[in-house]
Amino acid sequence: MSKAGGSDDELDLIDYTEEEEATTQATTATTGPGGSYSSSSFKDFLLKEEIMRAIGDCGFEHPSEVQHNAIPAAMLGTDLICQAKSGLGKTACFVIPVLQQIDPKPGQVDTLVLAHTKELAYQICAEFDRLGKYCTTVKPLVIFGGVPVTYHQNKLREMQPNVIIGTPGRVMDLILRGDLKVDKLQRLVLDECDHLIDEIGMRKQVQEIFKKTPRQKQVMVLSATMSKNTKEIARKICKDPQEIYIDDMNMLKLDGLSMYYVKLTEREKLKKLESLLDALDFNQVIIFCKTIARAEQLNQVLKKLAFPSMVAHGRRKTQDRLTAYKDFKDFKCRILVSSQLLGRGVDFEKVNVVINFDMPKNDLEYLHKAGRAGRFGTKGLAISFVCDAEDEEIMAAVRKRYACEITNLPESVDKDVYKNK
Ligand code: AMP
Repeated sequence: MSKAGGSDDELDLIDYTEEEEATTQATTATTGPGGSYSSSSFKDFLLKEEIMRAIGDCGFEHPSEVQHNAIPAAMLGTDLICQAKSGLGKTACFVIPVLQQIDPKPGQVDTLVLAHTKELAYQICAEFDRLGKYCTTVKPLVIFGGVPVTYHQNKLREMQPNVIIGTPGRVMDLILRGDLKVDKLQRLVLDECDHLIDEIGMRKQVQEIFKKTPRQKQVMVLSATMSKNTKEIARKICKDPQEIYIDDMNMLKLDGLSMYYVKLTEREKLKKLESLLDALDFNQVIIFCKTIARAEQLNQVLKKLAFPSMVAHGRRKTQDRLTAYKDFKDFKCRILVSSQLLGRGVDFEKVNVVINFDMPKNDLEYLHKAGRAGRFGTKGLAISFVCDAEDEEIMAAVRKRYACEITNLPESVDKDVYKNK
């Protein structure tokens, strides 16, 4: 359990020395096929009956490697620093330990989960609902900005939730207003933490929230990628954490993904996209653009061309944003154009094709975006449009960093390469 937090001024509370760092328990593993760890079973975790039933309902047969490494320690209250690439079941690594440990007390928030986007917060809450289906005393509530604050004030009062999942801004606002009390918090989770920590604005809010929580609590910090800075901060806010690194960050493999690039000019992009959407046998596709304006515009054009697309970006009204997210998740629509917004963390299990209409701005962003396809070890296809020297440099950086092959897109791609049975 972490003793950090409470009234201290900064996040840098515990100073780890090099020596301490060396003795920190760390697990580094390479992922097996499909990310699963077939020799272990959820039964080995000795989970509550209610959780086992829900796991069965979800159809999870075996814990994935990251779950195998994280859940046993986390469910005993050990702090956790966990880095594993997207789509390998990281959410359950904290949801299951929270459900296992929670001892609901009336009017007390037991667990606070912070996420960087509304969509991710919503998705995590859905995972609490799904895995906590039979834990009838667990009451998760998702909160984020863009809806009247009175809505959340009422919900908090009426529902008395014991698990809060939220974006930092609204969480802080409700704490300051006195509607959300975190002074009895038992667990704090930072999901996709490098986003929460590396962005100055969010980091300040996270720090403020952290200071309002009790010193004694379990801290779980998770991310698909973890910058040096994030790791340092994570180590400062955790106490004797179980550290799990499922992949060497420089050798991250996008397992199951076939990756290609298309060299073309800006003006040729739309035509190429059109022909790809016609030719590819996709279940669902996400098309990433570098700005909100471009995503909005591309969506309009696709609609005019009779492609049933929808768009997701941060400037849409909250309700529209969530409707888009839910409709896409529920397979009501098969083509989603997105800005950076859905570039990481969000799980759309049927997406098997990602198209970078604009090249991601660096190798890390490429990893997150391409990782939207091929979730939980399924097959997928990532195609990136490369149109200038800068794009080529990024492509070279991706190849180098992840030691992966990204080749010129052939005339046609065999659908067995990216279509899951
Ligand atoms: P996440 O990485 O948490 O976003 O999860 C990616 C996907 O894997 C989600 O659709 C989960 O429902 C699914 N998943 C998580 N754990 C397991 C498991 N042990 N077996 C099969 N699917 C899983």
